[in-house]
Amino acid sequence: MINLLPTWVYSLAEEVLEKSIEYPTVLGEAYRDLVEYYAQVLSNYGVHTTIHRVPDDYLKKRLDKSMNPDKPRYILLARIGSGDRVLQYNGHYDVVAPGKGWTVTDPFKPKKVDNRLYGRGSTDMKGGLAAFTAAIAYLASTKEPLDHVVEVAYVPDEEIGGLTGTGYLVNELGSRPDWVVIGEPSGLGTMWIGHKGGIWLEVFVKGKQAHGSTPWHGENAFEKMVYIAKYLIEEVKPIIESRTSSYEYDEEESKKATMVLGGKLTAPGSVNIVPGEVSFSIDRRLIIEEDLEKAEEELKKYILEVASKYNAKVEIKVLSKLSPSFVEPDSDLVSTLSNIVYEVLGFRPRKVVCTGGLDLHFYTDVGVKAISYGPGDPDQAHVVNEYIDLNDLYRSIDVYVELSKKAFK
Ligand SMILES: [Zn+2]
Repeated sequence: MINLLPTWVYSLAEEVLEKSIEYPTVLGEAYRDLVEYYAQVLSNYGVHTTIHRVPDDYLKKRLDKSMNPDKPRYILLARIGSGDRVLQYNGHYDVVAPGKGWTVTDPFKPKKVDNRLYGRGSTDMKGGLAAFTAAIAYLASTKEPLDHVVEVAYVPDEEIGGLTGTGYLVNELGSRPDWVVIGEPSGLGTMWIGHKGGIWLEVFVKGKQAHGSTPWHGENAFEKMVYIAKYLIEEVKPIIESRTSSYEYDEEESKKATMVLGGKLTAPGSVNIVPGEVSFSIDRRLIIEEDLEKAEEELKKYILEVASKYNAKVEIKVLSKLSPSFVEPDSDLVSTLSNIVYEVLGFRPRKVVCTGGLDLHFYTDVGVKAISYGPGDPDQAHVVNEYIDLNDLYRSIDVYVELSKKAFK
């Protein structure tokens, strides 16, 4: 395919991607260094940048110890253009831990083989950020006036829920763009117009601990838990899983609401005792037609009902909640992007709901239209020997440049 933009734009994206992979941005590590690197590149092209540091007490309230709350978090905003309307591109610069078994290269030593660039984050999602960086640098270099603002938000911590990244940007800094495009690796043939919601619960069942030789002195919490779980599996799960969404999802099976029990189990851990307290987890996923608060209430109601039936004391702990996110497939943002992809790449992307959670909900929760469209194969996210096809990276820049010019027209 022919290049629509000057060659230096694609070279810049490739260079930015390579350099950015060298920063091992796992759980607060090297965040400041990478953000400063992006800001330096952007300023070379005359793009205005601001770095916001997320306050320490904000981090401490929202991150548990395993997430390094002592390491500072930064949001970088890059802006060009002027006017009332804002098109924001959003990308997270944190990556998941590399894991073992890399053979092509070390995870933080990017390596190009044929037309693929290997390294942790190449696809998820320093690729998307490199494309945004090159696109906004190019737009700034043309000096063509824009009658709206184009902004890139470089955010941390998407991989641990996003509260201290996009959550802070939207809820505390008050970011309210008109349109948001997140550059997560949907692949260029797919546009994510939303994602499913989720509730993670832990159900603690309480009895009375006693010695295994004298069970008559105790009350077995495990046996009660089995009854509760059996009821949830046999009676509640079919009700929940009969709910089917009327929209298209990235996988056909994903159109259903789901409920998974027992991903996490706890017990006292000795053979010769009557267990006095045990717990099991519930991972409940919501289709976009469901309401988060109602789903939580419903689930708690079922658990409490069955617990009282078996005379069991339970405590329900909500571990995390994520509202479903959705933008109508015929909305102006979705149709404009779809038209531009058609003009630039010659095909129309599928418009589907993503099965996994993304940062989109932070925007749609406050009424901002947000979708995700970015380079890279989603199957490459979080894997060993992660790579991105560089052609995918280049073509995404073409799309972002056109969208930036034609937004709100
Ligand atoms: Zn990601």
